[in-house]
Amino acid sequence: MEERVIPGDFLALEEVYLPGYSTYEKEGKIYSKVLGKKQTNKDLRTVNVLGRYRRLLGVGDLVYAVVTRVRENLAFLSIASTLRQNTVINNKAGILLVKDLSNFYVDDLRNYLKIGDVVKARVKEVSAFSIKLETNRKDLGVVKGFCSRCRGEMERKGIALQCKICKNMEKRKVSFDYFD
Ligand SMILES: [Zn+2]
Repeated sequence: MEERVIPGDFLALEEVYLPGYSTYEKEGKIYSKVLGKKQTNKDLRTVNVLGRYRRLLGVGDLVYAVVTRVRENLAFLSIASTLRQNTVINNKAGILLVKDLSNFYVDDLRNYLKIGDVVKARVKEVSAFSIKLETNRKDLGVVKGFCSRCRGEMERKGIALQCKICKNMEKRKVSFDYFD
């Protein structure tokens, strides 16, 4: 059974169904977060809302991407997910130019990004071949860094990162939203 709903619409009681996609729960009741179609799954006892709109990644969207290669002037990233609902990642090939890393002058990207780092970035431009990313905001940049010596997870130490395993210190363009 399908029923159209808008954000805030009551969907079901929590004692009957579990909250699923695009829903939220408040005081035992489940409501819709988005405009879409209500869908109940009797086997799993869940209620979901299927968003009405599907869109492709666009300028201004925030994404999480993994650094796959770094050159002096350019880094290659694989876009893993987007923070915007109902958005389809049709192209994972992210690129970041040295001038779009930060508001301060950066001479060599290799000093600020390493292979395997997880980066939170904003889509600057979409072309037929790649998605141009930028991280020149305080909330953008590396959210999870990995030691270039032993691949261990790194934690924030001031404006730098330190490996939890070998204690190696490395520089990054660290996001305020770093996953500590
Ligand atoms: Zn290490």
